[in-house]
Amino acid sequence: MKWWRLSRIQAFMAVPRDNPELLKAQYSAFSRQLPMMYLILMSSTWAVAATHMRYAPFWLATGVPVLFTLACAVRVYFWWTSRNKVPTAAVALHALQRTNRLAPFIAIFFTAWALMLFPYGDAYEKSHLAFYMAITVITCIFCLMHLRSAAMTVTLIVNSVFAVFFLATGEPALIASAATIILVSIGMIVVLMVNYRDFVSMVNAQTRARRREEDQRRLLRMIDDLPVAVMTVDLDGFRINYVNETSRLLIRRIEHLLPVTADTLLGASIDVFHRHPEYQRQLLSDPARLPHSARITLGPEVLDLKVSAVTDDDGSYLGPMLRWAIVTKEVETEERIHQLAHTDMLTGLANRFAFSEDLKEQLLADDCHLALLYIDLDGFKLINDTRGHRIGDILLEQVARRLSDVCEGKATEVGRLGGDEFAAVIQSECEVQADSVARAIIEALCEPFTLTSDINVHIGASIGVALAPAHGRDLDTLLARADMALYAAKAAGKGRVQLFQPEMEALVQERVALEARLRAVLDTYDGLFVFYQPIVNIETGQITAREALLRWHDGARSWVGPGEFIPIAEQSGLIEQLGSFVLQAACREALSFPDEAPVAVNVSATQLGGDRLVPAVIAALQQSGLPVERLELEITETALLTAEAAGIDNLSRLRALGVKIALDDFGTGYSSLSNLQMFPFDKIKIDGSFVKNAVERHESAAVIRAIADLGKRLGARTVAEGVETPEQLDLVRREGCMDVQGYLYGRPQPTAGDRATVSRLP
Ligand code: C2E
Ligand code: MG
Ligand code: MG
Repeated sequence: MKWWRLSRIQAFMAVPRDNPELLKAQYSAFSRQLPMMYLILMSSTWAVAATHMRYAPFWLATGVPVLFTLACAVRVYFWWTSRNKVPTAAVALHALQRTNRLAPFIAIFFTAWALMLFPYGDAYEKSHLAFYMAITVITCIFCLMHLRSAAMTVTLIVNSVFAVFFLATGEPALIASAATIILVSIGMIVVLMVNYRDFVSMVNAQTRARRREEDQRRLLRMIDDLPVAVMTVDLDGFRINYVNETSRLLIRRIEHLLPVTADTLLGASIDVFHRHPEYQRQLLSDPARLPHSARITLGPEVLDLKVSAVTDDDGSYLGPMLRWAIVTKEVETEERIHQLAHTDMLTGLANRFAFSEDLKEQLLADDCHLALLYIDLDGFKLINDTRGHRIGDILLEQVARRLSDVCEGKATEVGRLGGDEFAAVIQSECEVQADSVARAIIEALCEPFTLTSDINVHIGASIGVALAPAHGRDLDTLLARADMALYAAKAAGKGRVQLFQPEMEALVQERVALEARLRAVLDTYDGLFVFYQPIVNIETGQITAREALLRWHDGARSWVGPGEFIPIAEQSGLIEQLGSFVLQAACREALSFPDEAPVAVNVSATQLGGDRLVPAVIAALQQSGLPVERLELEITETALLTAEAAGIDNLSRLRALGVKIALDDFGTGYSSLSNLQMFPFDKIKIDGSFVKNAVERHESAAVIRAIADLGKRLGARTVAEGVETPEQLDLVRREGCMDVQGYLYGRPQPTAGDRATVSRLP
């Protein structure tokens, strides 16, 4: 026989060890059926023994049944006591294997006993024996039905021996019985096979069902424990048919806002959560509209709802699953973050980001016509630097408030772009309208601000205006052009409104080009000259100093005034190098002044605050050999304030070396006595603008007199700048100035060495 057939027979006749659930089911069926089988076996055995006692020897008719009975009693006891036990698969396997092994022995034993009794007794006893064997084997097959192998073994052993034996007797009645029993046995084997197969599939089906149920239970338990609130809804009545524990817990928190409670939720209509139940029902019943997310506001609470479709294996829609959470806190946080990201915390206005985003959106509209006002405060920095940042902040808050008030109903948007820069948008491209709002803003900001009980300040504002779409349709262009207009407004003298002009763009480009050329010049210093202008003692007419004034001859443009290139150098950081150049040239060239007058060098704000000024001055003095008392440095008021403490420190160190320090352009900046108290200046230079109209205007003359008096009291020399006429000279002398500087006494001139080169330049 081929090995695989043998193995199939072996498998057929073996206990199904690989199916633990079947083993347990077989065991439990056996524990109920086998006691009965043994009892029937014993009773029918004793019935046969009783009819044969008269004929057969004692040991056979009585002794053997007694042994049988004892053996059967042991098995009955075993199965009877195990009927209520739930066995493990291993215990069941063990018991069934034992039954499987015992089955052939018991079958052989009983068959042998029956056949040994056959010679005793008459035809009745023989018939009884045949009946006994047939009926007992049927009982055994039925009772062993759940263990196919044991049932088959018993059937085959008993029936084949039975058939052969009775056929061999030659008795027609017994032969007929044998034939019947063979047929019955065949039928029973078929029934046994079918039943066994059904039993196995039933057990397997039950196992599968139980497992599925367990899985489901486990799943539900998991969903119950999930930190996500879950509900399901039946599609027929839109009633809630499942609620997990988290759902219940959350519902308890908002029960007061709902017509249901956590305990009555199951079976309630889902409509309780919605103001428009019809819409919700449509949504829930249509899987094509899922998944769906929504935020539901329930009184003060916000619920986040996510609905997804639950489908069967074949994709058919079983119903909606609702996951939800109370997100009130999260929503508040989101709003707070949004607010933080979009609001300027100090002023409460839109910040640069929010302002730009909003403007960008407005610019996208087809019928966009607007004016962008770029506002810069005049004089804010000074207050911030001198009074401290806390006062600066109070001022910005008040500016924002005034700005909002003025713009109310006129501007669609007001924002703080950073520092002391603000912006507003007006929904009109009309120049006149933009100008009137801008003027109203300037007017409002020019009014004094009361910052604390004892601090009142004045500032101003300059405004650049760009129109959309005329000057640009995109945010960057419009902002850049409004900024250019603002720059022009400031350059024209502050407190002004300036509309963007296309030429400004060219000016900006020119500035950029000029910066590049200035940078290139600093490689060779070709085209840079220092001119000198005398400062004269009014009384003696003697030169008290010469001011060094930088001149640049730009190959591409001829002479460029210092008023143009010095600010560029300051902004681009080139001033350090330029300043050192002037310092060195001035110290060197002053040595050849015939009258040994001191030389005055201008120092810009950027230089003053830096840590290279003092070493640069020392180096220039050392390299040239100029005596330190022949060097003066001129510092403007604004430079002094911008440079703050570091600047004053530098000046003190320089003055300690013996360098004289002059306060330049006094009266133009934010002149105040406190500036004069900040440092003991050797000289105060009254700005040329006062001298210019002093003859006609008494106020200017009064200012000159006041400064001259102040200088005397402080022990500083006062110099009147820009004296061009004898009348002006008379006036400044009358008002008490000690020195004069101006075209009347001489224009800035090149040194003798540079004169020839300069005269050749175009
Ligand atoms: P500043 O220091 O006040 O120099 C005096 C300015 O007045 C000079 O202009 C001079 O030419 C001009 N000036 C002198 N007398 C008269 C007059 O009678 N009438 C008129 N209308 N003007 C007169 P400049 O040379 O154009 O310089 C302008 C400014 O540029 C200077 O003003 C100074 O602040 C700055 N500057 C010039 N050279 C340097 C430098 O080397 N370094 C720095 N940081 N700044 C410089
Ligand atoms: Mg000067
Ligand atoms: Mg000056």
